[in-house]
Amino acid sequence: MELVVIVRGGGSKTDLFYLNNEAIARLGIRKMNYKIIPLNVGNFEALPKQVCMYRMYREITYEAPCIMWYIQGTKHNIIVDLGPPDPKQCLENRDIVIKRTEGQEPENALRSAGLSPEDVRTVIMTHLHWDHAQGFHIFKNAKFIIQRKEIEYATTPLPCHHYLYYEKNVGKPQFVDYLDKIKIIDGDYQVEEGVNCVYIPSHTPGSQGVLVKTEKGSYFIAGDAVGLFESWDTTPHVPSGIFNNLEQYYESMEKIERIADFVLPGHDMKIFDNSIYP
Ligand SMILES: [Zn+2]
Repeated sequence: MELVVIVRGGGSKTDLFYLNNEAIARLGIRKMNYKIIPLNVGNFEALPKQVCMYRMYREITYEAPCIMWYIQGTKHNIIVDLGPPDPKQCLENRDIVIKRTEGQEPENALRSAGLSPEDVRTVIMTHLHWDHAQGFHIFKNAKFIIQRKEIEYATTPLPCHHYLYYEKNVGKPQFVDYLDKIKIIDGDYQVEEGVNCVYIPSHTPGSQGVLVKTEKGSYFIAGDAVGLFESWDTTPHVPSGIFNNLEQYYESMEKIERIADFVLPGHDMKIFDNSIYP
């Protein structure tokens, strides 16, 4: 049995009904029963922890996963974020060790969740940092949803952030070759009923998270705005060590507090304590 709220007229009057599944289907009421599956597409061997937690843990590194998220139950088989380039490229272009097993190759990771890349119709990019934005080519039938401000900044970043978008030996970020497949948005945006892009600068100027309504509350895929569970659980919340405007960053965290029941961070291995959310 489900409790259904019917709003009549101008929204001033509501009725409550208990309906069984058959009645729900007959009335064409769509049940939002989304699940979120985190897919590990490679690990930083040793990421300085201060990258995720500003001014803390300056001497500590940790093994940090790169996460692709699959929102199961969506019409468009929505994916959030891609991942880093292959480990060889990371080493050659960045001197960074990314460890990736065969099962963590993005296509294989998707298949392990029962999805083929061709089935994906929408990819939401939280932002365009290099470790989130490689592998556009495997999603042949998808459009990519990116904030306008992120595209603008990724093409002309401040000198200190240039390395976050450009590979050493490559003249442009990868998304530039896929502009015809990109849907540019400005601010908050509904992708499907119950799946919303939420604009949350300022890990980058065009950062966005994805709010997913589930039967157990609203889950927020935060990208790198929240790096670790610890970043969010600490009072007050701790911003990433990479940002453009700290004042705006704190406003974004207040926005997340207002809308989300659960926050899923961008680079925390503890995410994989659960294979599916909720
Ligand atoms: Zn980032």
